[in-house]
Amino acid sequence: MENFLTIGGKRYRQTITPVERNKRKVFISAGHGPNASGEEWGAYNPGVKISEYTLNLLGAHTTVDDLKEAPNLIPTFYDDPNTLWGTGKASQGHDIAIEVHHNAANGVAQGVEGWSHKTHGDPMDIKLLEFICAEISHEIGIPNRGVKQANFGFLSGAEAVEHHKDTNASGLIEFYFMDAENDRAKMLDMTKRAGHAMARGIIKFDEYMEKQK
Ligand SMILES: [Zn+2]
Repeated sequence: MENFLTIGGKRYRQTITPVERNKRKVFISAGHGPNASGEEWGAYNPGVKISEYTLNLLGAHTTVDDLKEAPNLIPTFYDDPNTLWGTGKASQGHDIAIEVHHNAANGVAQGVEGWSHKTHGDPMDIKLLEFICAEISHEIGIPNRGVKQANFGFLSGAEAVEHHKDTNASGLIEFYFMDAENDRAKMLDMTKRAGHAMARGIIKFDEYMEKQK
């Protein structure tokens, strides 16, 4: 049986009906919350006066709003009140946990990157990130730099409460390099479209997980 969803203006075919299965809880947080300080401030593009947190908020909300339309998923938006580690830990009890970030490097590099935990990341984390990176790369037309590993604060917090069941997956996404862009309207559009793409990637991961059963 098939049913159709409209996610971010695109028609998407859902192949498993809601009645057949339990819903997955999805935790989406915006990296670098309102109370971030010091090294947790995140990136800033002075040319267009946009902070990473502003973009992270837009991307995370876009994904959550889209996932509200997905019958098999229960999305939650989380705005980091403390530290990135604390945000990861707050994902306890969710099946999928992702934090949204935007990258910065040398002003030239561009592409989407996924990050899983260096020592505790598992194949499900990587699979989730691969689905999301592929969707974002395709949607906004930037290189897919793939899934990398690091012990970022959010990932450490998430892994501290992730129980490594086959339904648990956590990761961090860097939508694109915000220091390689110089047009405010274009950046807001890129982030929004990446948010829609991430929602599609999460739905694909969810369906992939169901097919593994
Ligand atoms: Zn960041």
